[in-house]
Amino acid sequence: MDANTSQKNPEQRLRDLQHFGEEGGVIPAIDLAATSTFLNPKDMEKTFSGEKEGCYLYSRHSNPTVNMFSSKVAALENTESALGVSSGMAAIACSIEQLMPNGGEIISSMTVYGGTYALFKNIFPKQNIKTHFVDINDLKAIESKINSNTKILYAETISNPLLNLSDIKSLSGLAKKHGLTLIIDNTFAPFLVTPAELGADVVVHSCTKFISGASDMIAGVICSSQKFISSLIDVNTGTVMLKGPIMDARLAHELYLRLDHLSLRVKAHSEAALYFAQSLEKNNIPVIYPGLKSHPQHQEYKQKLNPGFGYGAMVALQIESADKAMKLAQKLQNEKFGLYAVSLGFSRTLMTVPAITTSSEISEDDQKTMKLSKGLLRLSIGYVGNNEILFERFLKAYRQVIG
Ligand code: PLP
Repeated sequence: MDANTSQKNPEQRLRDLQHFGEEGGVIPAIDLAATSTFLNPKDMEKTFSGEKEGCYLYSRHSNPTVNMFSSKVAALENTESALGVSSGMAAIACSIEQLMPNGGEIISSMTVYGGTYALFKNIFPKQNIKTHFVDINDLKAIESKINSNTKILYAETISNPLLNLSDIKSLSGLAKKHGLTLIIDNTFAPFLVTPAELGADVVVHSCTKFISGASDMIAGVICSSQKFISSLIDVNTGTVMLKGPIMDARLAHELYLRLDHLSLRVKAHSEAALYFAQSLEKNNIPVIYPGLKSHPQHQEYKQKLNPGFGYGAMVALQIESADKAMKLAQKLQNEKFGLYAVSLGFSRTLMTVPAITTSSEISEDDQKTMKLSKGLLRLSIGYVGNNEILFERFLKAYRQVIG
């Protein structure tokens, strides 16, 4: 692999970033200090006035361990910089508020995580931020909504829960043409897609999902230019600095270590999900999975995903009603196929019925427009266990509940 190719390979970029412990440890030590001493008091004054950068002042502003985690995510996402925050929602809210201090308009995909939808619909209007929800693959519809107040174009790389792939390159073209900032939530697709390489200006993650991988913490990250990341921690105007949702150094250290096996986990999720989806198809059970030829965007996925990581963990099943989908999920839980729980990216399979849970914040009309049926069962396929045994358990439960 030559230097140029390795620069384009997210696994190698991440590998090539090395930090050592103070005594030569192969991993860096955690720096838990909430505040740091200044040997020269003048430097503290200059740090507050913005004349001096790079000093550790107070851990809500910057912390060495959070910075190390952030630089590793920046390597993964191929952005100049990044900032670990306390949740995926904090990453989304702080990025948008930083870009729109005086309000304005967002054009957002209709098929976003329900919490994001509710933030845009119910909270942002009180801050003079209005959102137009659109079909994100309909570029004409997007352009028709752009006016002089529009500031942000917002989408998820792979839509939740219907698994449509956003055309980030075209969205970026549109954003550049109209002077908008393109924000992409890449929570569903670490390693699969590198949105910044396709023109995204800001990339956010809920680290609660794949980056953690153990469903044991809530965390988020914002990836962007150095200028934007610095603005988030500005002592006078930074939304992360002044609203306070910075990442804790203990979590940053945990996540720093977990990033080294994130690519292996993503590949294992993809392998298990493909096996599951293909087995469903062989048994004539309707399934939505981008790795199957039957997925309407299969070719697009094939061309646009980073090679070698598969098609991801997420699979969706069309069940005739929410009631039946819940009954099936309960049976699957009893049969030790998976767990009926929100979230995704865990080592074990998680199942939800989004229309009445994680996407229930989305209005009935918008659910209809985005073709989200009440009985859609979303699965985040885990990689622990034997795929054949797990599929046998699935099939037995499915035959009993659905027929
Ligand atoms: N973005 C997506 C795509 C999500 O699925 C979620 C949570 O489910 C979030 C953002 C919010 O992340 P967090 O729960 O870490 O705040």
